[in-house]
Amino acid sequence: MSLPPLVEPVAELTVDEVRRYSRHLIIPDVGMAGQRRLKSARVLVIGAGGLGSPALLYLAAAGVGTIGLVEFDEVDESNLQRQVIHGQSDVGKPKAQSAKESIAEVNPLVQVVLHDERLDNDNVMRIFEGYDLIVDGTDNFATRYLVNDAAYFLKIPYVWGSIYRFDGQASVFAPTLSEIAGADLPCYRCLYPEPPPPGMVPSCAEGGVLGVLCASIGAIQVTEAIKLLTGIGEPLAGQLMIYDALEMEYRKLRVRKDPHCALCGENPTVTGLIDYETFCGAISEEASEAAVGSTISVAQLQSMLAEREDGGRDFVLVDVREPNEYDINRIPGSVLIPKGEFLNGSALAKLPGVDSGKQIVMHCKTGIRSAETLAIVKGAGYGDAVHVGGGVSAWVDQIDPSQPAY
Ligand code: ZN
Repeated sequence: MSLPPLVEPVAELTVDEVRRYSRHLIIPDVGMAGQRRLKSARVLVIGAGGLGSPALLYLAAAGVGTIGLVEFDEVDESNLQRQVIHGQSDVGKPKAQSAKESIAEVNPLVQVVLHDERLDNDNVMRIFEGYDLIVDGTDNFATRYLVNDAAYFLKIPYVWGSIYRFDGQASVFAPTLSEIAGADLPCYRCLYPEPPPPGMVPSCAEGGVLGVLCASIGAIQVTEAIKLLTGIGEPLAGQLMIYDALEMEYRKLRVRKDPHCALCGENPTVTGLIDYETFCGAISEEASEAAVGSTISVAQLQSMLAEREDGGRDFVLVDVREPNEYDINRIPGSVLIPKGEFLNGSALAKLPGVDSGKQIVMHCKTGIRSAETLAIVKGAGYGDAVHVGGGVSAWVDQIDPSQPAY
């Protein structure tokens, strides 16, 4: 399977550019036309970390005309073991700035666009728009699913890579190019429909990574980027590259499009950006601490509701989901105060006073968001506040199956 070039070539190269890129120009498959395509290309790199460092340097050296970078972090000494775009004198500097300076040193003829912000639901569409290709160098699952979904909605192909200790993986996800390719191309969700349970997969920060592994996988990502931009070779779409540094072995596996994929399948359930932190079960330390000894089951909640009917202790049942979720199903008697209002502090004014004697009982869809808000209300003095493990999903499953689940 081959794909046509992602970008149209610019009209011409300058004399300086011809000199600089001569080793590309004399490869027949690349040639003047390929180099002119690279010059007109706009590639966005997510993160100037382990994978982003070699990717940015080689994209710049190759003459990719416009290189975007999303990065909000600062250079730390512990980054230097693998993030070779930064140096000793950059420690403490914004990574975006440090990366831009290194790129200017490698190739002053390319444009660098810095997006000095954390990628999230509010900015992802604005940032992605206008790029021809994305190179994903993120290290967490929430951002990976965000990148995958946003790229799909904007019909932008992307090159993905991941690294851990001595093992790496890479692939190209381009489901929206299926028709052009004449093949069903998968997305990241086709390969990994569900994120691993929180805490199951340690990050590189917890588990470590061999520094040079970043170069192996980052180089594959740039190779695929150049192939896609110029339309040469066989792209890694529909295939997963697995690299084992200890065995020095590369293996390619076929990845099929999943007809039931929640995003790119025949009956998609993900039709817009979702709450990725919740989807990936990213629960903070404060939240898990708050939940210890303060989590009730839906059966306990049902008894509390019955006892209150009989004159037992009064409480306020707070649903911290979003209004559209509240429209789908709810626990009777709950009041809706979305999690965001707890984060900005406005929710506390809607709760009974700390001295009212009323207990605060919180729930969300599954118990992750409500654990976060539980930590906040406990911090505000509601010492006996609790949240409902399993949330409204458990309520519908175990207590009231007449309501729809989602
Ligand atoms: Zn898919």
